[in-house]
Amino acid sequence: MEFALTPEQERFRDTARAFSERQLRPQYQARDKEDALDRTMVREMGALGLIAPVLPEAMGGLGLDAVTMGLLVEEVSRGDFNVSYVQLLACLNGQILARHAAPQVAAEWGHKLCRGEALMALALTEPETGSDAAHIRLKARADGDHYVFNGEKTSISFAHQADAAVVFARTGGEGDGAHGVSAFLVPLDLPGIQRTRFDDLGSHIVGRGSLFFEDVRVPAANRLGQDGHGFTQVMQGFDFSRALIGLQCIGAAAVSLEETWSYVAERKAFGQPIVRFEGVSFPLAEAETQLEAARLLCYKTLWLKDQGRPHTAEAAMCKWWAPKTAVEIIHACLLSHGHGGYGKETPFQQRLRDVLGLEIGDGTAQIMKLIIARERVGRVAVPY
Ligand SMILES: Cc1cc2nc3c(=O)[nH]c(=O)nc-3n(C[C@H](O)[C@H](O)[C@H](O)COP(=O)(O)OP(=O)(O)OC[C@H]3O[C@@H](n4cnc5c(N)ncnc54)[C@H](O)[C@@H]3O)c2cc1C
Repeated sequence: MEFALTPEQERFRDTARAFSERQLRPQYQARDKEDALDRTMVREMGALGLIAPVLPEAMGGLGLDAVTMGLLVEEVSRGDFNVSYVQLLACLNGQILARHAAPQVAAEWGHKLCRGEALMALALTEPETGSDAAHIRLKARADGDHYVFNGEKTSISFAHQADAAVVFARTGGEGDGAHGVSAFLVPLDLPGIQRTRFDDLGSHIVGRGSLFFEDVRVPAANRLGQDGHGFTQVMQGFDFSRALIGLQCIGAAAVSLEETWSYVAERKAFGQPIVRFEGVSFPLAEAETQLEAARLLCYKTLWLKDQGRPHTAEAAMCKWWAPKTAVEIIHACLLSHGHGGYGKETPFQQRLRDVLGLEIGDGTAQIMKLIIARERVGRVAVPY
């Protein structure tokens, strides 16, 4: 067993950390008042190779391993949890394109993603179907060398600002379930697309909203994978993003914990630093333990991916456990700051609001536990 990073991984992590500390962390709270990503900053990350280095060189990436991608996401999230959605979605969508798009579509959009010239959303959820994603209704009707889209996607991160989206649509009949679903790369400037933006608790620069499709003509060349196989083929990429989501949450919790150790070592009550009270230090020590365990689970999952070994159950473990653990840790950090922690001048309330979203986004804890049960005993564990 080898837990050490390679010298290349360490160098990459250090570059990411330096950028995150210098360019992201000082403005994290100021960005809470913005409603979109600063595209200049996104392009700057792209120029430094800090968006999707895991993608192949033919798509503008560096062909690096999944563990290195995890290090990048964790470091970016330490500075600004919300900015790390850029890496998460570029990587998830980029991998889907790498595997399933026509080479020229993959190359064009891969380069745009890696350079920070485009943001890409992933549109699966609909008003009537979230967890039960196999029963989506948005219709894509084949018409010559196009598909015609009608319907609505909702709760989509980046909806109001993305340049394109990977959209899951029903090309088969209503009764076909997962087998009638296909995936498409859809540029969001096509005629017939409208967008709305929600007023969310957190992650304001990411934004969540709906995409409405009315007779939108999408070239058939933009279909990803085979007709009717979008669900089974394309959604396999989610195993990767689930470990990265875990590390997004861990980055935000880790930095909260570091700030809190410093505070409790300084702050005095009853004539001594409050860290001397076990009621203060033990919850933080427990948080360190849980954080380290969750981090190891995420990196093990990415390592399994790098080895080409199955990691679906581990990815689902990352997705339900790391966001929950991070929320609990940030909550404990806020309380350790006493009345000051409740104020908007400290970052804890914002981190709590931001990280909470990923207890739901990409699938809830219940759905992740169903996946783990299914991986252990098969479909007998799934209630449909
Ligand atoms: C911050 C954020 C970002 C998001 N980003 C995106 C995005 O970019 N793209 C996208 O497509 N979607 C996105 N979503 C949507 C998200 O994936 C869905 O909200 C999620 O999958 C749950 O679906 P739902 O909201 O319809 O809840 P429902 O499916 O209605 O579930 C409601 C509750 O019932 C529980 N439940 C449902 N079925 C079962 C079951 N079989 N067993 C036990 N419990 C069950 C759920 O766990 C949940 O607690 C995002 C959501 C959030 C909050």
